[in-house]
Amino acid sequence: MRSIYDMSYEQMEDWAVSKGWKKFRVQQIFQWLYKERVEDFDLMSNLSKATREELKKDFTFNPLTLVRKQVASDGTTKFLFRTEDGALLESVLMVFDYGNSICVSSQVGCNMGCSFCASGLTKKQRDLTSAEMLGQVMHVQKELDKKGERLSHIVVMGTGEPFDNYDAVMNFIKTANHDRGLAIGSRHITISTSGIVPKIKEFAKGHYQYNLAISLHAPNDELRSKLMPINKAYPLKELMGAVEEYSRENNRKLTFEYILLKGVNDTPEHAHQLANLLRPYLCYVNLIPYNSVDEHGFQSTSRAEAMKFYDILKKEGIGVTIRKEHGSDIDAACGQLRIKELRKEKEAKQKAQEKVA
Ligand code: SAH
Ligand code: SF4
Repeated sequence: MRSIYDMSYEQMEDWAVSKGWKKFRVQQIFQWLYKERVEDFDLMSNLSKATREELKKDFTFNPLTLVRKQVASDGTTKFLFRTEDGALLESVLMVFDYGNSICVSSQVGCNMGCSFCASGLTKKQRDLTSAEMLGQVMHVQKELDKKGERLSHIVVMGTGEPFDNYDAVMNFIKTANHDRGLAIGSRHITISTSGIVPKIKEFAKGHYQYNLAISLHAPNDELRSKLMPINKAYPLKELMGAVEEYSRENNRKLTFEYILLKGVNDTPEHAHQLANLLRPYLCYVNLIPYNSVDEHGFQSTSRAEAMKFYDILKKEGIGVTIRKEHGSDIDAACGQLRIKELRKEKEAKQKAQEKVA
């Protein structure tokens, strides 16, 4: 059965009309779902019994169940979820002085195969549905409800490539952003892509107010192709063409993410190259401290070296920030908790098989 979290406001209106109901029923339903946050149709007390029965026949609620929660000393909290078909995925709640932000996964695994990323260690199993993305947000919001707090920001930066699951991601964001949904401001929602050029162009044409972030991680094609195989399909010239189109269509700053990998992409020469590459565009750079992933062997640039890189970009006139590290004591790198759980399950299965043998 379909989760009701899959349905945008407009889709729900169509559904209501198909049942011969007035559209305003959807106002009531959305109020219960996203303001009261109930997960039981029988609690929707201003709906008739017949209406509730119809809803029950067609829809379920959150398709995710919580497997584990890990809280770091700085308040960063990781949530490991299981889907109805048994796949694992994770979300991270980060606490900033400006609000609570959730990092949402968009796929189970990722096919982009970036050489530094935990998510790239497993092939994509499947795309997540809108309901599974909104389900992450609803779970975390309901945790926050216990403290009377609210999620104010969403970043689609967990496992997966959101632009490889474009329609479902955009549909999920619509409800998160909708006034009658979770009402999270569009400028508080960020989508991060590894650089799928046709989708960046499509996004540019949509004139959304959401923020766009592009994972760059290297200032030239040779290095970028080594770190990110997607660069072979869409090299920098094409990527920058799409960025130009985005800027022209939207007149909005976009963010380039740049993980600092010790001795790989963090020299002064790289910094100058990066400045030259980005100078023509309305953008800024977010330097990201690398969370090491056991399997990959990359190391994080030291704070002192990172500051040097930062200073060069600044001097060259490029807007730049260094991301604060979050939850480094709980494997906060996207996808790490999931990988550990998968490994544990595999070991348990092997042990069970050994016993049988
Ligand atoms: N697939 C999308 C969104 C998910 S990854 C993308 O690549 O943009 C979100 C961000 O986390 C990306 O910038 C990615 O490069 C970065 N990232 C991946 N692994 C990381 C790690 N181990 N440490 C720090 N950042 C990481
Ligand atoms: Fe996928 Fe993004 Fe990780 Fe690359 S960095 S493997 S695109 S999740």
